[in-house]
Amino acid sequence: MSCEVTLARDLREALFALARPGAPTQVLAGGTDLMVELRTGRSRPERIVDVWKLDELRGVRAQAHGLRIGALATCAELKRDPRVAHGAALLAQACADVGAEQIQARATLGGNLGTASPAADLNPALVALGARVRLVSLQGSRELGCDEFLAGYRQTLRRPDELLESVFVPARPAGERCGFRKVGTRRAQSISKVVIALAVSVEGRRIATLRAAAGSVAPRTLRLVALERELLGASVEPSLLRAAVARSAREDIAPIDDVRSSAAYRRHVFARVLATLLGDLTGAFACLP
Ligand SMILES: Cc1cc2nc3c(=O)[nH]c(=O)nc-3n(C[C@H](O)[C@H](O)[C@H](O)COP(=O)(O)OP(=O)(O)OC[C@H]3O[C@@H](n4cnc5c(N)ncnc54)[C@H](O)[C@@H]3O)c2cc1C
Repeated sequence: MSCEVTLARDLREALFALARPGAPTQVLAGGTDLMVELRTGRSRPERIVDVWKLDELRGVRAQAHGLRIGALATCAELKRDPRVAHGAALLAQACADVGAEQIQARATLGGNLGTASPAADLNPALVALGARVRLVSLQGSRELGCDEFLAGYRQTLRRPDELLESVFVPARPAGERCGFRKVGTRRAQSISKVVIALAVSVEGRRIATLRAAAGSVAPRTLRLVALERELLGASVEPSLLRAAVARSAREDIAPIDDVRSSAAYRRHVFARVLATLLGDLTGAFACLP
């Protein structure tokens, strides 16, 4: 089947191409997901809009209340950018764990969000950071929280005429500590069996802020709402952390058996990794379940 490719030279050209009615159209950024999908037949677009050359979708900008990161920022760029290391360290950690150097050179932030794989590594970091996506079209722009945007298994709230333009990461609370942990079949270059991202701050002996997210434990990237509800404002007691982790493993996640792992293994590892991360980041080392 033939496929018409538009090499967009600027944002307007890309948006006009996406607004054309009719045939199914796919956006092409770094291509590390889409090229695989075209080859396997999972995706069969009749039109492709290549946005790789769009400067409007590039760059990292420090703003008054946070960082704005272009959708075409690659993992390689993000893991080295000092502004990201300072304002979104969790994202930098996640980028360093994506594939190998060659993949990191092409894999983009927008592409990770666009594929919306439950095993994606950047998306849990974005959700834990409370990041928001900006979508643009000929009609204007709108912003959505990443957790809302990632609506289901490989599904997002992007309309076909919209382009993911950028992501906004709000300024971090004072004293926040972050942790990212990906578990795969081996240390490098594996797809996550479980991935957890956590951002927490402690004032006195109480948890002042907490956002947590996980991947590969449900059909989509999940915010760990039961965990957050239990622990926000709680004192850093190992028994409380242990109970909250157990509750999160029961209520927040819905892992499945598949080719990469079993649901039971995922639930077990989720609880161990979450407890270890929480213990390390809050200073309550004794909270292993
Ligand atoms: C060998 C290999 C290893 C990998 N390892 C990992 C890993 O460890 N962790 C991980 O998370 N991922 C991994 N991936 C998956 C992939 O690299 C990431 O998901 C990457 O972030 C995708 O970005 P991309 O720019 O290549 O997306 P593309 O393939 O260009 O696009 C992906 C999807 O997003 C859409 N899209 C892209 N940009 C936009 C935009 N600006 N607006 C609207 N829609 C858009 C496309 O239409 C498409 O549906 C791996 C892939 C390969 C091939």
